[in-house]
Amino acid sequence: MAVATEMSLEQELNPWIAAEARFDEAAGRLGLDNGLAKVLRTPSKEITVYIPVQLDDGRLEVFTGYRVQHSIARGPAKGGIRYAPDVTLDEIRALAAWMTWKCAVVNIPFGGAKGGVVCDPAVLSEAELERITRRYTAELLPFLGPEIDVPAPDMNTNEQVMAWIMDTYSMHVRQTTTAVVTGKPLDLGGSRGRLEATGRGCMIVCNEALKRFGMEPSSARVVIQGFGNVGGMAAKLMSQAGYKIIAVIEIDGAVYNEKGLDVPALLRHRKQTGSILDFPGGEAIDRDEAMYLECEVLLPAAKENVITSQNAGRIRARIICEGANGPTTPVADRILADKGVFIIPDILANAGGVTVSYFEWVQDRQGYFWNEDLINTRLEEIMVNSFRDVTTYAARHDVNNRIAAYMLALDRVAFAIKLRGIYA
Ligand code: NAD
Repeated sequence: MAVATEMSLEQELNPWIAAEARFDEAAGRLGLDNGLAKVLRTPSKEITVYIPVQLDDGRLEVFTGYRVQHSIARGPAKGGIRYAPDVTLDEIRALAAWMTWKCAVVNIPFGGAKGGVVCDPAVLSEAELERITRRYTAELLPFLGPEIDVPAPDMNTNEQVMAWIMDTYSMHVRQTTTAVVTGKPLDLGGSRGRLEATGRGCMIVCNEALKRFGMEPSSARVVIQGFGNVGGMAAKLMSQAGYKIIAVIEIDGAVYNEKGLDVPALLRHRKQTGSILDFPGGEAIDRDEAMYLECEVLLPAAKENVITSQNAGRIRARIICEGANGPTTPVADRILADKGVFIIPDILANAGGVTVSYFEWVQDRQGYFWNEDLINTRLEEIMVNSFRDVTTYAARHDVNNRIAAYMLALDRVAFAIKLRGIYA
């Protein structure tokens, strides 16, 4: 699947095929040995567990859970756990591989993993969710641990779910082991700055990209899609830093102000009303049209596959900073490259979250906690260095930033495998 333009729309929108297309291109450019490429693309472990749980009404139900550990070559497996009715093993497999590449791009000592439970949290009570979480953790027990595999929150899981996992694991091993998960509540070994980390990381790499164009944040117009953890935080921090957030796009509409939105006021409005609609500090605008506004930075921070062969031609951004995972398809990449758009790829742009998760794991293992300034300084150092590494690689190999990020990651993981050798 090396030639992205030969994809059908269905293939284009499949995250596993998209990941494979980038992997193949990067492996080919690196001249990776076929055998090593096979090792790199194959997950280390795929675990399926069946989780019997008594529901509140007394009925017994059996849920399916997955954990895929893609790589442990550079350190313990690391990655989130999602709860959703349509979770599939294929999706978890692709996301686990992405985590390997992301951790390698920012050069933190983790491999990659992802987990999921097929369930609909919207129809489950808190008590049912707790029982599912605890039994899922118990089933995975031999495969988890601070030196083995360290989960974190993902779609529909949060710090409470992490607290249950930490407690269940700790009860089984008979010692409180905070470093078995990250994204925990602050009072249970969570890290300062974790909530803001992904949005902050996006801002840091945007700052670096602007420097390349000789621009200041104050002259940069920003359009943000998704006003949740990543997009909301990025909007808040970037507006504080002087960026002009001209539009925010949400699932139910978009709001626009050419002079720049008052982001704290918009966040308050959304909290009070549950929506960004009817915000008095801006005008309503069509969601699709908002994506095509002329701007310096477009920050997709909602979901995958929002920039495709169907709409990439209409994008008028100079820089795309991928806060979300997989927002741009491989075919769209080509179209954007032809237009000269500078893309900061997801495995670099949104790696601030896993970087502060790494800080959380380090602090838990030390039993010594850092203040927020230290967290932010170290996050900045890692994001700036990683941006430099990726763009230097891109220039040296004459490839775009995404392929450069994959090449850098594959190279680092392949090197670790070569050093360790294949155990037989
Ligand atoms: P979130 O649920 O907090 O926020 C997502 C927001 O996007 C929500 O407000 C939702 O209403 C909105 N949205 C959904 N579909 C939309 C659409 N079609 N158009 C516009 N808005 C839409 O989630 P999040 O944690 O901010 O994650 C967003 C993306 O970032 C995901 O792809 C996630 O995998 C990725 N990501 C998150 C983190 C993190 O630390 N939270 C880290 C790395 C990557």
